[in-house]
Amino acid sequence: MSHAPQSPPTEVAPGIRRLTGRVANFYLVEQSGGLTLVDAGTPGDWQLFLRTLDTLGRRLGDLDAVVLTHAHPDHVGFAERARREGPTSVWVHEDDAAVAQGAKLGKGDASLAKYLARTEFYRTFAGLSRGKAMKMIPIVEVSTFAGDEVLDVPGKPRAVHIPGHTPGNAVLFLESRRALLTGDTLVTRNPLTGRIGPQIQPSGFNRDTAQALASLSALEDLNAEIILPAHGDPWHGPVSQAVQLARAAGPS
Ligand SMILES: [Zn+2]
Repeated sequence: MSHAPQSPPTEVAPGIRRLTGRVANFYLVEQSGGLTLVDAGTPGDWQLFLRTLDTLGRRLGDLDAVVLTHAHPDHVGFAERARREGPTSVWVHEDDAAVAQGAKLGKGDASLAKYLARTEFYRTFAGLSRGKAMKMIPIVEVSTFAGDEVLDVPGKPRAVHIPGHTPGNAVLFLESRRALLTGDTLVTRNPLTGRIGPQIQPSGFNRDTAQALASLSALEDLNAEIILPAHGDPWHGPVSQAVQLARAAGPS
């Protein structure tokens, strides 16, 4: 095995690093020595996570918390392994807790068949398959939040409940850094069509697309300068403008 020198992943906002594994981005937030991981990639991204800690001169034991934006397999990823081996606590909104712990995932509100002509569909599913994220690894024990509350973990993210993509879907607002981690609430690259720009997730991945669009209004008052989504590149600018673009783009 070769050990090429590695550099830490890009710092996309003060103390926030973007890790891009096989499908979704996830983020490592640092505050006065503490570490919070926002989402946990796919199970196969575990090595990427360990390498990242290594390049930062940190260890698994330094991880204080994993906060999940929602309970989908490309976000829950290796959370159970981090919980067990850290050990660390894993946070999720109470309405997604049962699924994160192994209950059956609700169906999307459109068939995936409509995306079969898209190259991006195959790119995403190849990534899910290689990352062993076709199926969720249940988290044995979770801590829950109810939405609109500041979590007592490094970075002090404010969790805001934005139902639609999943029932317990949430964004995390890091107010002092003016950064909004949107998970799958608002993405900048569509994982089924490949379209670039602020938009909600495609209907094939949403529990309730109409609700996902309507819920975006809860983002408009968050005074962030950068949006860090789970799919696609960071987006710079007022959140209200990103929301407007996402509404204009509509369902896909
Ligand atoms: Zn999702």
